[in-house]
Amino acid sequence: MTTPTRAAGLDALHTFVPHAGADYRRDRNLDTGPGRTNVSGLSPYIRHRLVTEQEVVDAVLERHSLHAAEKFVQEVFWRTYWKGWLEQRPEVWRRYRAKVADLLAGDLPAHYEDVVSGRSGIDAMDAWAAELVETGYLHNHTRMWFASIWVFTLELPWQLGADFFHRHLLDGDAASNTLSWRWVAGLQTRGKAYLATTENIARYTDGRFAPTGLATEARALDEEAFPPAVPVASDDVEGQPGERVGLLLHEEDLEPESLLAEHPSLAGSFRATAVAADPRHRSPVAVSPAVVAFTTGAAADAASRTTDAAGRPATGLDSLEPSAVLDWAAAEDFDSIVVPYAPVGPVRERLDLLRAHLAAEGITLVTVRRRWDGRAWPYASRGFFPFRERIPGLVRQR
Ligand SMILES: Cc1cc2nc3c(=O)[nH]c(=O)nc-3n(C[C@H](O)[C@H](O)[C@H](O)COP(=O)(O)OP(=O)(O)OC[C@H]3O[C@@H](n4cnc5c(N)ncnc54)[C@H](O)[C@@H]3O)c2cc1C
Repeated sequence: MTTPTRAAGLDALHTFVPHAGADYRRDRNLDTGPGRTNVSGLSPYIRHRLVTEQEVVDAVLERHSLHAAEKFVQEVFWRTYWKGWLEQRPEVWRRYRAKVADLLAGDLPAHYEDVVSGRSGIDAMDAWAAELVETGYLHNHTRMWFASIWVFTLELPWQLGADFFHRHLLDGDAASNTLSWRWVAGLQTRGKAYLATTENIARYTDGRFAPTGLATEARALDEEAFPPAVPVASDDVEGQPGERVGLLLHEEDLEPESLLAEHPSLAGSFRATAVAADPRHRSPVAVSPAVVAFTTGAAADAASRTTDAAGRPATGLDSLEPSAVLDWAAAEDFDSIVVPYAPVGPVRERLDLLRAHLAAEGITLVTVRRRWDGRAWPYASRGFFPFRERIPGLVRQR
């Protein structure tokens, strides 16, 4: 079980740090099954920012040179890259959301239910579907094989596969998940799709699986063009905090101490604080109990580390529903509420709705973004390779 606390995330980080150099470079693509130690397993912590990307990279670079840990550091930056890319193309997310809703409301392909229930008839797919549902995690290489077989062998819509992942992954993340599925399907790097092969699966699962009958050709999918990219906002703080300010944390960032250290004028000034967990909006249908448990546990852990100016503990809110937040705001008499910036995804949708409801009551929603994101995201305007060139410069900046 993955314990949803910052302390557990830091423990996992410190256990993994010695292996983040040559070991990771050599073994990272192997999937030997649950209990694997060749990858960090940190993604549920990083995704909710129980542990931040900055902390992970700092801890690794204290132990290894950037050259030695280059592969691991690049993987952490893949997450940042995907977020920055989607931030500039919100229409990609909007179209994905609309398509998933459409597909789930209509006649689903006949074999969809069998595949997600582990009855596809392909032993590897069935084992991976079961592992995903039971543990909330799949190894990166396995995610690639799963998505490729889903799209090219089983010929299911990629959006339904991305939705299945998003409902079950403890690290389920709008940018990394949607864009990785698109990458496998050949939509992200136009015309270049990822084909899973029996030999590659057998080699990297140490012979645990060697599924036969897989598609031998990955014909990249096609789609209508998207509108031009929108630039990333240049300011890390959007909105003006007033005199009576609340702090509302959410599942995109549950480490207020380092976030507020970047914005010292805000720290220590909150009339009241709250933490909301609202993972239901990752999908139009129910997200897994494991995702709900992890996210609510993570929010409770953040609440236990958060107090207002008078030292009062944070309130737990069940959701980011405007009515829940407005009740809290009225009880505390706020004129403004500070929230961590939410990148494009379900929480951002909730905050956009909330902002309008608060404004109608004369309350300003103020977003604060981490420097990590503000510095890196503008470089995620094209492919990963030009972005990768920026990594040494980005890790040197504090
Ligand atoms: C189809 C598909 C769907 C995916 N969906 C998600 C998702 O919803 N959420 C998510 O966090 N990652 C997703 N990934 C990326 C990657 O598979 C996971 O981040 C990684 O497997 C997490 O395991 P780990 O923490 O042991 O990774 P490690 O290998 O130990 O890497 C360290 C950290 O780097 C980041 N990272 C590593 N690889 C990637 C990558 N390829 N893309 C983005 N970030 C990466 C993660 O934060 C990870 O915790 C997806 C990949 C694919 C192919």
